[in-house]
Amino acid sequence: MATERSYYEILGVERTADDAAIKRAFRKLAQQWHPDVSSEPAAVERFKEINEAYQVLSDPKRRQIYDMVGRAGLGDMGGGSPFAEGFPGFGDLFDAFFAGMGGSAGGARRGRRPSGSDLRYDLRIPFDEAVRGIEREIEFDALDQCGTCGGSGAALGSTPATCSACGGRGEIRAVRQTMLGQMVNVTQCTRCNGEGRVVGTPCQACRGDGRVQKRKKLRVTIPAGIDEGHQIRLSGEGEAGPRGGPPGNLYVAVHVTPHAVLRRDGTEIFHDLQLSIAQAALGTRARIPTIEGDEDLEIRPGTQPGTEIRLRGRGVPHLRRSGTRGDLHVIVHVNVPTKLSKRQRQLLEELAAESGEGVLSGGIIDRMKDALG
Ligand code: ZN
Repeated sequence: MATERSYYEILGVERTADDAAIKRAFRKLAQQWHPDVSSEPAAVERFKEINEAYQVLSDPKRRQIYDMVGRAGLGDMGGGSPFAEGFPGFGDLFDAFFAGMGGSAGGARRGRRPSGSDLRYDLRIPFDEAVRGIEREIEFDALDQCGTCGGSGAALGSTPATCSACGGRGEIRAVRQTMLGQMVNVTQCTRCNGEGRVVGTPCQACRGDGRVQKRKKLRVTIPAGIDEGHQIRLSGEGEAGPRGGPPGNLYVAVHVTPHAVLRRDGTEIFHDLQLSIAQAALGTRARIPTIEGDEDLEIRPGTQPGTEIRLRGRGVPHLRRSGTRGDLHVIVHVNVPTKLSKRQRQLLEELAAESGEGVLSGGIIDRMKDALG
C-alpha cells in the first residue's frame, strides 16, 4: 500500500479543498473503486486507502491535526477505518450521499452560492516564540462582506429574486434507472449558475458581488511547540463568498527563524558546548543558553569530548500532549589549541614531560618564525 502518499493526494484534491470538494472526490473514487463495483484485484486495498483519507479529511478536527503534524499526530484517533467489519455496501454509500441533496420528497434544496477562496498567510516567528507559544495579531487585505448590501449583492431596497428556471434550487434534476439502482442526475442551473437567486438591480458599492476589499485584523494563537512548516487553519477567516456564499478558510503557514546557538529536532533542543582542554580536564562552570535564559552548568573534571549532558524537560513542549516537554541536550566539544603563547607551550611541554609523553618540543611553526626573526 502506498502509505507515502498524503491523504490529499489519495483523494486527488488540493490541500485547500473545501468539504464539498472532498466529498465530491471521495464519491467519485468510491464509485470507481468500491469492492462491490470494481473487479480490480487492488480494489479492496485502494478503497481502504480512499476511505481512510476521507474519514480524516471530512472531519474538521482530525483534518486540522493532520494538516499540522501529519498522520503521526492522529495517534489512535487516526485514519483507521471505522468499518472494522468490512465496508458499507456500495448502495448504502451511494444513498447516504444523495440523502443530503434533497432527494426526498418536498426537501427543497436551496441554491448554493460559491464559497470564498482560501487564503494563506506566511507568518515568521522567532525560535523561542515557537517553543513557548505566542499570540500574534496579523493584518491583511481580503474580500469581505459588503457593508452596503449586507453581502446580498442587491441594491438597497431590492432583494435578489428566486431564479425562475430552477425555482431556487440551483440545479436541474433527472432520475434514471441503472444497474446500480436509481441514479439521480443533477446538473447546475445555467441561468443562476447554481445560486438559486438572481440579482436584478446590483448594489453599487460592490457591483452585485456582495464583497468589497477590506483590511482584516486577526489574533492568531500559536501553540507552544509549533515548528517550521506547520499550518494553522482558521475556519471561515478566508475570503468572503460572493453574494453571501460561505467564506473560505485562512491558513497561517508558520516559519521559524533558526536560533543562533540552539538547534531543534522535534521536541529536542541541542547545544554545542565548546571547552578548552584545561576546562574539560579540570572541570568548569559553563554558561548555557536555554529557552528560559542563560544559566550556569557545572562541568565535572575529566569530562570527555562527545559527552552529552541532558537537561530533562528543558526542550520543546509536545504539541499534542500538554504539560510534557522534550529535553535540552548539551554536547561537549573539546578544542585543541592551534596557537600557543610561549608560556602556554612551555606549560604543555611540562605537562607532557610529567606524563612521560614525547612531543615536538618548541613547535615547528614557532621555530620557523624564530628563524625568520
Ligand atoms: Zn454591496
